[in-house]
Amino acid sequence: MEERKGRRIIMFPVPFPGHFNPMIQLAGIFHHRGFSVTILHTSYNFPDPSRYPHFTFRTISHTNEGEDPLSRPETSGMDLVSLIRVLKQTYVESFRETLAAEVSGGDTVCCLVSDAIWGRNTEDAAKEVGVRRLVLRTGGAASFRAFAAFPLLRDKGYFSTLDSRLDGPVIELPPLKVKDLPVVETNDPDELYRIITDMVEGVKSSSGVIWNTFEDLERDQLMDCSSNFHVPFFPIGPFHKHSNDSPPKTKNKEDNEITNWLDKQQPKSVVYASFGSLADVEEKEFLEIACGLRNSEHPFLWVVRPGLVRGTEWLESLPCGFMENIGHKGRIVKWVNQLDVLAHPAVGLFWTHCGWNSTVESICEGVPMICTPCFTDQRVNARYIADVWRVGKVLERSMMDKGEIEQVVRSAMIDEGDGMRDRCLAFKEMADNCLAKNGSSSNYLDKLVRHILSFDSYAFTSY
Ligand code: UDP
Repeated sequence: MEERKGRRIIMFPVPFPGHFNPMIQLAGIFHHRGFSVTILHTSYNFPDPSRYPHFTFRTISHTNEGEDPLSRPETSGMDLVSLIRVLKQTYVESFRETLAAEVSGGDTVCCLVSDAIWGRNTEDAAKEVGVRRLVLRTGGAASFRAFAAFPLLRDKGYFSTLDSRLDGPVIELPPLKVKDLPVVETNDPDELYRIITDMVEGVKSSSGVIWNTFEDLERDQLMDCSSNFHVPFFPIGPFHKHSNDSPPKTKNKEDNEITNWLDKQQPKSVVYASFGSLADVEEKEFLEIACGLRNSEHPFLWVVRPGLVRGTEWLESLPCGFMENIGHKGRIVKWVNQLDVLAHPAVGLFWTHCGWNSTVESICEGVPMICTPCFTDQRVNARYIADVWRVGKVLERSMMDKGEIEQVVRSAMIDEGDGMRDRCLAFKEMADNCLAKNGSSSNYLDKLVRHILSFDSYAFTSY
């Protein structure tokens, strides 16, 4: 692919898989459209650039003297809110300097695409160097609607009375219930509020929002958001299904073993279970999940990341002989290539924490879900999966004992008369249509490219 000389996009992802993956997929889409891409990445969780040979990587170093605050052992025990606060404090200043250096040398920079979580600081940095900023929102529009309503929800007292009316409706945001509000357990709820409102304000001040969603899935939610935000919206998802220039994935020995195991299973018989890259569970919950999966008597593939079970290294809390008794019926692994797993014909059900990427990836393969949301937007996504799109069932974390798990897995796998799988397959088809020529995502992508090419970076201040 010939690169459009002088057409460079700078991207600034948040360094977690759920944010980095869609950003790198978007980079592949831009590259396919003839842009060159430079990724500014924090030294924290810095990826292996050799896996992405099409892109140039620059390191954003921490601004503190000496040790990186995020490499300290206490980081592993930090709650998500504190982690994001430290990330923003640690890297934003050095981002500003790196961006300025990038813009002053080499090809013309068409725009910056920054993750919405970085907030308004990236807007200030982009303005200083005369570059327009687009925002990538890695979550869905339904959850963004809830984030945008935080000031209203706070004024109405929802956050202060959360625990006393969990099953009550959020009248302003149907079909959400109070327990679906996208909060997270934290020692610092005020900081959570600041992060969310900064994200929302940063979206408002951007030159446009790129969404990893598609109109046929979230038309009403997108329309609702866009009527309150006077910036162009580009729902071009699902990103991972676009033609792009990502290099072919290299499979390691474990990936091949997983594929071989899946190949031996009956079509749609396997339960794939994963809670994403950030959520963790108590040891007691872990044991209930293990026994529930075993008792369901369906083959299962379960991702247990090191760090998933609080206070343990990996699987040491499983009862003695657990894996031996399961034999070939189940596999526990540290990480999988989730896109490949969900696309495998043997996978019939995804037990998920409902991170937005997992939600979209599952829908795009027509795999129905069991939803056990843990925090933030996962709760909103779960409500939409179960009650609006009706492609999954909720299994609340507080109900997660082995008997309940066994029952929910069995009934979801049987799916008689319920139609979850058929509805999910219909969404898969809609996603494919959105990406086809003249489909909504493909049209929005054309518009996005025109929008970016219309930027005259040096005329920014007069915009
Ligand atoms: N993922 C993966 N292998 C795993 C678990 C997760 O490749 O074993 C990927 C998954 O495909 C998704 C991302 O990690 O793209 C997780 O993002 P998501 O928004 O679902 O959840 P988060 O990790 O942000 O909570």
